[in-house]
Amino acid sequence: MKSFTYERPETVEAAAKAITANKNAKFLAGGTNLLDLMKLQIEAPAHIVDIGRLPLNRIEKTPDGGLRIGAMVTNTDLSAHEVIRRDYAILTRALQAGASGQLRNKATTGGNLLQRTRCPYFYDTNQDCNKRNPGSGCSALDGASRNLGVVGISQSCIATHPSDMAVAMRVLDAVVETINAEGVARAIPLEAFYTLPKDTPHIENVLAPDEIITAVRLPKPIGGKHIYKKVRDRSSYAFALVSVAAILHPDKTGRVAMGGVGPQPWRRTSADRLMPQGAKAVIDELLKGHNTTEDNAYKIDLAHRTLAAVLREAA
Ligand code: SF4
Repeated sequence: MKSFTYERPETVEAAAKAITANKNAKFLAGGTNLLDLMKLQIEAPAHIVDIGRLPLNRIEKTPDGGLRIGAMVTNTDLSAHEVIRRDYAILTRALQAGASGQLRNKATTGGNLLQRTRCPYFYDTNQDCNKRNPGSGCSALDGASRNLGVVGISQSCIATHPSDMAVAMRVLDAVVETINAEGVARAIPLEAFYTLPKDTPHIENVLAPDEIITAVRLPKPIGGKHIYKKVRDRSSYAFALVSVAAILHPDKTGRVAMGGVGPQPWRRTSADRLMPQGAKAVIDELLKGHNTTEDNAYKIDLAHRTLAAVLREAA
């Protein structure tokens, strides 16, 4: 690991200023992804701004009947919160499908959204990777791509976003709240938060360098049956090959988002509108324009079968 300087600010404003005041600085939250990346020298920040003491660890009701989740709320605390379990159960189920108990104790809400892909070539510094080293090429295109993406990808990068939590938040229409060093706040719908790789896969979201996530806001609950089904190579501590987050109502209307298929939690409201027609219509629309490799073509069938299983479970 390369040496770095370190500070632990006490306020959000000081944290945002510290990021701008230091060249090549990074926020450290739970550290469950960043520290691994630093050990591999994929990330080599010169300065660490530890945001572990910021007062962003509360979950509170909003005036419109929704919920505001502080960016530093851990995945464990979020999944166990009584209002989340009762009114946003899909979030509890997605969180508990992710990582391990120890990691969920450290991982934070903001950090979970910002975790990097688990494409194996991204972590192997002997391999070309446009995301790690822009312009070097993509080793996955002619390599092992079984776990990689089929929608929203480009010839520069076919990586997937690894978060389970973000898939549930996408189906809940979550909004990411941020503030920058000037004190300017933004509310960014999760659907507009992530960017597609196109020819700049190293840029993954719309955050400015001095912008810090302060909270994630959930709209008021919409009821329905909440199901998160994750298909993976082993029954725990593995990333999704395909996952489905669905909220289903008795009249067969509902919403669905998928993980494991693209560079961001994948949802199309045009697919939601087809829910009454069944799994085939929904997945055909949701994964419209998909582009598979020989290794990951199975994901299309798997997506159909996974949503069909979810709909059977709901019925
Ligand atoms: Fe890198 Fe993306 Fe290609 Fe993986 S798929 S090697 S992350 S450019």
